[in-house]
Amino acid sequence: MPQWLDDLNAEQRAAVTHGGGPLLVVAGAGTGKTKTLAYRVAYLISQGVDPGCILLLTFTRRAAQEMIERASTIVARGTSTTGRVWGGTFHAIAHRLLRLYADAVGIGREFTVLDQGDAESLIHLIRHEMGLHEKEKRFPRKGTCLAVYSRCVNSGEDLKHVLERDFPWCDEWESELRELFRRYVVRKQERNVLDYDDLLLYWMALLDRPERAAEIGGRFDHILVDEYQDTNIVQARILRGMRTTRQDIMVVGDDAQSIYRFRGATVRNMLDFPKQFSGATVIKLEQNYRSVTPILDTANLLIAGASERYTKDLWSERKSDELPRLVLCKDPSEQDDYVIDRVLRHYEEGIPLRRQAILFRASHLSDTLEVELVRRNIPYHKFGGLRFLEAAHVKDLLAFLRVLENPRDELAWFRILDLLDGVGPTTASRIVEHVEQAGGDPRAVRSFPGPPAARVGLADLAQVFDDVVPMGAKNPEAQVERIRRFYDPIFARTYENPAARVRDLISLEQIASGYRSRQQFLADVQLDPPTSTSELAASPYLDEDWLVLSTIHSAKGCEWDVVYLIHAADGFLPSDLSTGSQEEIEEERRLAYVALTRAKDHLYVTWPLRYYHKWYALGDGHSYAQLCRFFTKDVLASVEEVALARPEEKDDPGSFYDPEADIQQRMRDMWE
Ligand code: ATP
Ligand code: MG
Repeated sequence: MPQWLDDLNAEQRAAVTHGGGPLLVVAGAGTGKTKTLAYRVAYLISQGVDPGCILLLTFTRRAAQEMIERASTIVARGTSTTGRVWGGTFHAIAHRLLRLYADAVGIGREFTVLDQGDAESLIHLIRHEMGLHEKEKRFPRKGTCLAVYSRCVNSGEDLKHVLERDFPWCDEWESELRELFRRYVVRKQERNVLDYDDLLLYWMALLDRPERAAEIGGRFDHILVDEYQDTNIVQARILRGMRTTRQDIMVVGDDAQSIYRFRGATVRNMLDFPKQFSGATVIKLEQNYRSVTPILDTANLLIAGASERYTKDLWSERKSDELPRLVLCKDPSEQDDYVIDRVLRHYEEGIPLRRQAILFRASHLSDTLEVELVRRNIPYHKFGGLRFLEAAHVKDLLAFLRVLENPRDELAWFRILDLLDGVGPTTASRIVEHVEQAGGDPRAVRSFPGPPAARVGLADLAQVFDDVVPMGAKNPEAQVERIRRFYDPIFARTYENPAARVRDLISLEQIASGYRSRQQFLADVQLDPPTSTSELAASPYLDEDWLVLSTIHSAKGCEWDVVYLIHAADGFLPSDLSTGSQEEIEEERRLAYVALTRAKDHLYVTWPLRYYHKWYALGDGHSYAQLCRFFTKDVLASVEEVALARPEEKDDPGSFYDPEADIQQRMRDMWE
């Protein structure tokens, strides 16, 4: 037995050295689930398993990379390497497999991917073509249409049923929606594009035929899955399909941390695992190695209020005299000051900024804090929220690569052509058709008889393609560089504040430099986009250390020495958008639990008593908040309460916080 197994406790070791057959590890936060998975990868390799036959599915690419690196340091003491382990998200692995097996499902190998925004644009386009936007009664918004579609294909349920149950207000449009979805599917096939759902659906379809399932599943001796509580029904079916000939699969998860129900994840996958994989071994871990006891006590009390729960309370050997602090601030700006002051104190005591994290429920909740951090020259990285990929200028640049990859990708074409002077939607459609008739060579834009106003732009664009097409599918960095030379001046004219955005384009070029294949670069950026490091971030001289700002969702699986959970006020946590049903509230409670259990040594929970109406753009007044409802009397007994403001300070007890108003702000934020 390798000596490094001594790093593990008995249960972890049992999981790592598990002989064969399905294995489920159910365990609470910080009990070493992820560590156990990484050690299992190392163990398998040390036992002679070919790394290329190990499939490791995680929630982000970063998580997969970290685990593989960890495994590789462990096995480095031997002679093996982990270089060829298949690691990544379900979507990224689907993409990789579909490149290999595209023919089997009738798609072209050069397919490109539509992100959420593109998929909505395509729906919008078709809706327009069908004349649905002209109806007297308002047809459902494109986002709603896509949500309905996605719900149907992911649940396998009939449209009628889904509408009745989940979207009753769209009920009257059933036949139009059915036609819209039919056209949407046909159009994607014609254009050789796949949306996010398609990646998983096609993977699942690949496994329909037993001999193909045996071949594809048979590539992998072992399948390992982290954060299993956040997988959906399609993902569970894929895993079953991948294990028809071999039974070696290990999944780990914690039902108390399931936070993606709103995206169709179901904790049932984890609970039903022993039924779906017969003969499954179940191992439980209960010792938490992450947090000091007082933090765990508070987290245990908070989750104790949950209506349904399977994992037990956690315990820890790590002692501390310091209770978590619950801090009542006068208003958001006092909250910012308090948190920054604490961050700097801990920094002075020797805890680097990057081992401290500020967490919040929704991305916009860090707005004022970010301004203050910039003002005080404190570098930070922000995770979650508006992703890099959603920025229009990033999408513009990627559209060029998409067209080069798949000249049938009309949405990418429209995006590029929209940048040119003198090209309207009709001309754009004709150009796409023209290129298609020319055999799909983008250089054909040169011979398009465009309107005079568009000639210069089209000639310049043709020049880009003349230069880039011969580069082939290799060297994406050089391609991005050439495209930027064309795009930069247009970009500077098109967007406000180009100086701040230029950083994103530079990052994109830098990321590209790490890739040899254009296809792989596109897939990685689109399927698992780097989270923006924020337009405002980072002062240059402190760049190697930075504070972490993150939404709770993006903090999953991570840990920091000091954690600050801010805006712990009802309406923000739980979010007023998620307080419609008991189930939604339970998910918010689990989110709060995830936030608290990220902390190793120090935990601060802060909430402002008073919100000024600029927070909801209602005028000059203010409203009073209430403490997050999950901090019940029992939970409060486990924390040290600090009051920077006094609740009696309320001067107008009639005007309580108005959740409606915040919704309005967020409606506007959606268009930011
Ligand atoms: P989460 O549910 O938040 O994803 P997890 O169960 O995956 O947590 P890990 O992140 O693997 O837990 O581990 C939490 C911390 O505990 C890490 O710092 C890890 O190195 C440490 N740890 C885990 N097991 C042990 C052990 N046997 N001895 C010492 N430290 C351990
Ligand atoms: Mg983990």
